[in-house]
Amino acid sequence: MNNKLYGSLIFELSHPGRRAYSLPRNEFGDYKVPADECRKHDAELPECDEMTVVRHYTNHSENNFGVDNGFYPLGSCTMKYNPCINEEIAMHRDFANLHPLQPADTVKGAEQVYDDLQKCLSELTGMSKFTLNPCAGAHGELTGLMIIRSYFESKGDKKRVKVIVPDSAHGTNPASAAVCGMEIVEVKSKADGRVDVDHLKTLLGDDIAAMMMTNPNTLGLFEYDIPEITQLIHDCGGLMYYDGANLNPMLGACRPGDMGFDVMHVNLHKTFSTPHGGGGPGSGPVGVRAGLEQFLPVNNSAADKDFAISVNPYHGNFAVELRALTYILTLGRENIKMVGPLATLNANYIKECLKDDYELPIEGLCKHEFVFNGLKDKSTGVTTMDVAKRLLDYGYHAPTIYFPLLFHEAMMIEPTENESKETIDGFIDVMHKIAQEAKNEPQTVKEAPHNTPIKRVDDVLAAKEPHVSNCTLNCL
Ligand SMILES: *Cc1c(COP(=O)(O)O)cnc(C)c1O
Repeated sequence: MNNKLYGSLIFELSHPGRRAYSLPRNEFGDYKVPADECRKHDAELPECDEMTVVRHYTNHSENNFGVDNGFYPLGSCTMKYNPCINEEIAMHRDFANLHPLQPADTVKGAEQVYDDLQKCLSELTGMSKFTLNPCAGAHGELTGLMIIRSYFESKGDKKRVKVIVPDSAHGTNPASAAVCGMEIVEVKSKADGRVDVDHLKTLLGDDIAAMMMTNPNTLGLFEYDIPEITQLIHDCGGLMYYDGANLNPMLGACRPGDMGFDVMHVNLHKTFSTPHGGGGPGSGPVGVRAGLEQFLPVNNSAADKDFAISVNPYHGNFAVELRALTYILTLGRENIKMVGPLATLNANYIKECLKDDYELPIEGLCKHEFVFNGLKDKSTGVTTMDVAKRLLDYGYHAPTIYFPLLFHEAMMIEPTENESKETIDGFIDVMHKIAQEAKNEPQTVKEAPHNTPIKRVDDVLAAKEPHVSNCTLNCL
């Protein structure tokens, strides 16, 4: 690869007068831009020949790591199988060119997509009805809690201001409760990583609006006590909220609606594909059990009902919804039942193969993901960060690290359901190898990565003083 081209910004490759485009013939006649809307100076644009532009961006794109060029065991965030057919459907011009304000009778097809997806989600989760408006998991949580609040307001019950959140919860749970103006009460986990029911009992009262539960929880563990917990919360008048971001291992195995949950969200961009690196795009549909449908959000124009909430002026992230529906329909009723068991099998296989080298704080069966607490042998001084960086040298994306916060050296691994045994075995071999290196040549691991275009960066400095415009040059 041409390093000069690779390491440069497109502006640094610019030479006055070079051109790489030809505009199509203007078929609409001249248009005069009003003088006060014209620029005072020419726009500062790079001037390059065509091959320079093509190579510049192609080289950059090849330095991207994604599920299409490597294994991506990123726990919790689930970068998984994203079949190309999903992208084709999402990009189809009849969908991509829709405008949210188009007359309703011109978007019957899109309405059908909404309807079908809502029905699929209801059937997969056991909920009565879904809204597709929320644009992320966290947005879904906020929507769900607003639904719960409206429900209590409609009954004139004003004292229910508390939301119970397990200490293992994703940070968005307490954040959403706070944004919704509710008070957060933390329930502890037991040594086995699951909700401590005895502690929960001490928190109950007529001020509890809801309890938020993630299942499997953020440690990848199934919460066995859900029937008892649901009973306790319902007995004190509260509602049960299911954070469905980890729905993969449940698909085809069991349904939150059947476990007694009242409100839930699903992360379409996790469980039902859609690439979402860099924080988007997402979709967090919210489902409710029978009897709560009237509290689902409405679009702004219809927000005249009592207690109506609105969380999105339009209809959510339609392209993500299209991908999710395509994903569900291409798998079909029978194959989708394999998603949960395969995700679970893959995670347990990796966990069992690696637990002699890596510390497994919670033994036993996990669901789609699990957490190691760094290397078992702590005497080497090699940290989870070092292992993650060394994986890059071997061509693997790092797992999620230092989350969840329950363990100091957390390393959260999620293989997803769609990886072959050979791919998973390759990852296991490399993880073994790194554990050996940590013993025999710890410095190699501590200074990793060695093979990537940019070596070890100072994470703190990169976050606090980012120099995004010239860092490529300085680092090379
Ligand atoms: C990802 C995740 C969320 C938040 O979803 P976003 O789409 O990132 O807002 C909430 N809970 C759990 C358990 C998650 O894994």
